[in-house]
Amino acid sequence: MDKAEVLKSAQGLAAATAQEVISWAVSRFGAANIALATSFGAEDQVLTDMVLRVDKTIPVFTLDTGRLPQETYDVMELTRSRYGIKIEALFPEKAAVEAMLAEHGPNQFYRSVELRKNCCQVRKVVPLKKKLAALSAWICGLRRDQAVTRGSVSKVEWDESNGLFKLNPLADWTEKEVWGFIKLNDLPYNRLHDQGYPSIGCAPCTRAVKPGEDVRAGRWWWENPEHKECGLHSRGKR
Ligand code: SF4
Repeated sequence: MDKAEVLKSAQGLAAATAQEVISWAVSRFGAANIALATSFGAEDQVLTDMVLRVDKTIPVFTLDTGRLPQETYDVMELTRSRYGIKIEALFPEKAAVEAMLAEHGPNQFYRSVELRKNCCQVRKVVPLKKKLAALSAWICGLRRDQAVTRGSVSKVEWDESNGLFKLNPLADWTEKEVWGFIKLNDLPYNRLHDQGYPSIGCAPCTRAVKPGEDVRAGRWWWENPEHKECGLHSRGKR
């Protein structure tokens, strides 16, 4: 598949709706060659609903880091039963986790950005890269106003670090629009959202935010904002 030609055909999608972007991807790549990556956050629940409305055969997968909160497993279960789908859970390599724990202990992420990124690498990035190697495009719930690191997100872009196309159908959605869709369609969502968690990752690396704080302030809260990506969504120097 010619990268430049695909990007050219996607140029008209800047103002397209989220479902138009997903439909374009199905016709362009085929449902079996794309997949939705979900962490069961609010945006991912919107996308799961939209993706399955467009084509029920589009695969849905998640990264089970082994450190997720119980509330995330609960919404995973609700999502499986609501849509009657199988959700593929990708686990980290057992030997890599064992070696990391033996070397650095269970709480290495609090000690330095480097050790935190090492944990994300083992538990998230490596399993994700293995999965993405077999796909033409992946669908993510990134929005431009989520964080300082996400302001330039496009609806269709080339993911240089993983070597495939990346679709961000909700790039121009606001948080209010996301929650409006969830309520309108009575979608299952992570109950931590009702307890002050706008963005939810692993349990030891996520906390509730205070009123007025940035939506990503509760992720790796001990780090500076410009470091707050786990390597799944690398963009240039991020
Ligand atoms: Fe490890 Fe925290 Fe990254 Fe999860 S979010 S993979 S626990 S550093």
